[in-house]
Amino acid sequence: MSTVRAGNRSASAIDWAARRADFPILNRQVHGKPLIYLDSANTGQKPRAVIEAVDAFYRRHNANVSRAVHTLGSEATHAYEDARKRIARFINARSDDLVLTSGTTFSLNLVAYSYALPRLKPGDGIVLTRMEHHANIVPWQLIAERTGAVIKVAELTPAGELDLDDLYAKLSGEVKLLALTHVSNVLGTVNPVAAICREARRRGIVSVVDGSQALPHQAVDVAAIGCDFYAFTGHKMLGPTGTGGLWARAEHLAAMPPFLGGGEMIKEVRFEGTVFNDAPHKFEAGTPNIAGVIGLGAAVDYLGALGMAAIQTREQALLAYATTRLAAIPGLRIFGNARDKAAVISFAVDGAHAHDLATLLDLEGIAVRSGQHCAHPLLAWLGVSATCRASFAFFNTEAEIDALGDGIEKLRKLLA
Ligand code: PMP
Repeated sequence: MSTVRAGNRSASAIDWAARRADFPILNRQVHGKPLIYLDSANTGQKPRAVIEAVDAFYRRHNANVSRAVHTLGSEATHAYEDARKRIARFINARSDDLVLTSGTTFSLNLVAYSYALPRLKPGDGIVLTRMEHHANIVPWQLIAERTGAVIKVAELTPAGELDLDDLYAKLSGEVKLLALTHVSNVLGTVNPVAAICREARRRGIVSVVDGSQALPHQAVDVAAIGCDFYAFTGHKMLGPTGTGGLWARAEHLAAMPPFLGGGEMIKEVRFEGTVFNDAPHKFEAGTPNIAGVIGLGAAVDYLGALGMAAIQTREQALLAYATTRLAAIPGLRIFGNARDKAAVISFAVDGAHAHDLATLLDLEGIAVRSGQHCAHPLLAWLGVSATCRASFAFFNTEAEIDALGDGIEKLRKLLA
């Protein structure tokens, strides 16, 4: 098994080609061509360390958590809780303040139903931004419908950055909650969440940050961000699908009622009434994705060993290379030119539908996403029905980006 021992070395000191070998799937072929995986913003590929952690759990330790006193049960509980500690440490949080969930969608719904629903009144405001994923829009619409709260939307600048003047103007009046993404999954824009959350807090507004696209690309410190809630998903940060978390300020978790009821989340159940467990277990009803969480623990170990600073530097170099390469293609338009941008490029090519382009690129072994990226309001604002999106991980190479550029150029001529 290949291990990563880079620690927090600089990006140039890391042998990225060797790290590429940590991902078994990158050896496969698609339509007879070597796979070029440029869809990490959709879901990340898994290094051997994650695959083996899941495999080892099922081969040697499989048992339910927090229930059985036998050896396997205590091994499983220990591994699960130890993974929680490492995942919490990865975002500079206390493990008691980290609820393990199935991912961002669940985490945001947990905030919506357990925090917002009991508190919001008719006329209260919820501020969202134009660049939100549906997972950070629809739960708030459902809550607004049930409480009579009103949704306001902060708009963007032409470069695809948040218009902070507009945002701060909207954080006023009866606004009680702000929900915004840390990094846009379509534009790649990195929002200055620490400054925004500070401003929200100053105005007595609770902030909810969707960290789905941030954690794979940069170091995240929830204490430094100063938000009230931070949601994330494991599968985009090299972990298994069906994993993720919600970090919340301890006082919120203590005050919030449970979202789902069942086993694990109780201290005592009588028909006359039930005493709930403490946070975070109060929000973790039922048998969790034990193997998945252990896999996510291995993923944060892997990322932490490489160092998020080195990963960020590496990905920024790939982003710069890809931006130059794609921008040189006639008729290709890039959406999102934020000054602070993660390694995600959405683009459209004149005369070529995004789905046709992605389908034909697939025949070249190149995986890019096409469509609306669960962001209908943003696509409407961009004035397009779909885009292609190439998203990069540290294991991608300049040669792969050249292959993407060559592929688009070839197809542009075919499709035009
Ligand atoms: N928010 C953003 C910004 C995302 O990119 C995604 C995944 N595409 C989600 C939320 C939803 O994540 P999940 O489907 O893992 O719950």
